[in-house]
Amino acid sequence: MKKIVLATKNKNKLKEINSLFKSLLDIDVVLPDSDIDVEETGETFLENASLKASETAKKMHLPSLADDSGLCVDALNGRPGVYSSRYEKDDNSRINKLLSELKDKDNRSAHFCCAMALSDENGNIFFTAEGRCFGEIINEKRGSNGFGYDPVFFIPELNKTLAEISMEEKNKISHRSKALSQVIDFLKTKN
Ligand code: IMP
Repeated sequence: MKKIVLATKNKNKLKEINSLFKSLLDIDVVLPDSDIDVEETGETFLENASLKASETAKKMHLPSLADDSGLCVDALNGRPGVYSSRYEKDDNSRINKLLSELKDKDNRSAHFCCAMALSDENGNIFFTAEGRCFGEIINEKRGSNGFGYDPVFFIPELNKTLAEISMEEKNKISHRSKALSQVIDFLKTKN
């Protein structure tokens, strides 16, 4: 079985990605042996995903898959964007800051974006993909599933936030699953 290192420390992402990878491909997804700190100096999700995949692959001498994702809010000109995880120190304070920035805004449209990059063991990027999930930011938290901004990210078609649906339901519509299904389709053609 071939191996791919997932360039992440985020266990929630690993869980979501693993559940999508399982049984679809004969590829073992592993985490790096030790923490690999890659500075996210890119200005786009794609640049950051590529940096992470390339550095992790070179350190682990294995092909690597990395993702970079975040929340883009229309009324904030796309912020927090690539700074979504650095917007505040934890999920709760990030949500509070977001709601306070949106206090007087009528336009609540937002989307999550996820970029993925595949690197060979020498650090060369050979495939990239992006996925988006559109919704609205609501004023109060709803639900306890998921992570990050999920409790205030409302999907009008479902009449629920991402934190009110199961991981399986989220995997059908999420930015990460949309990017990952392109990665899986690509890897299927290579296998
Ligand atoms: P990354 O680890 O640099 O990709 O940072 C992503 C950050 O964006 C996370 O820490 C969350 O704050 C936010 N984020 C990304 N994807 C999701 C999601 O599916 N739900 C909620 N928040 C997300």
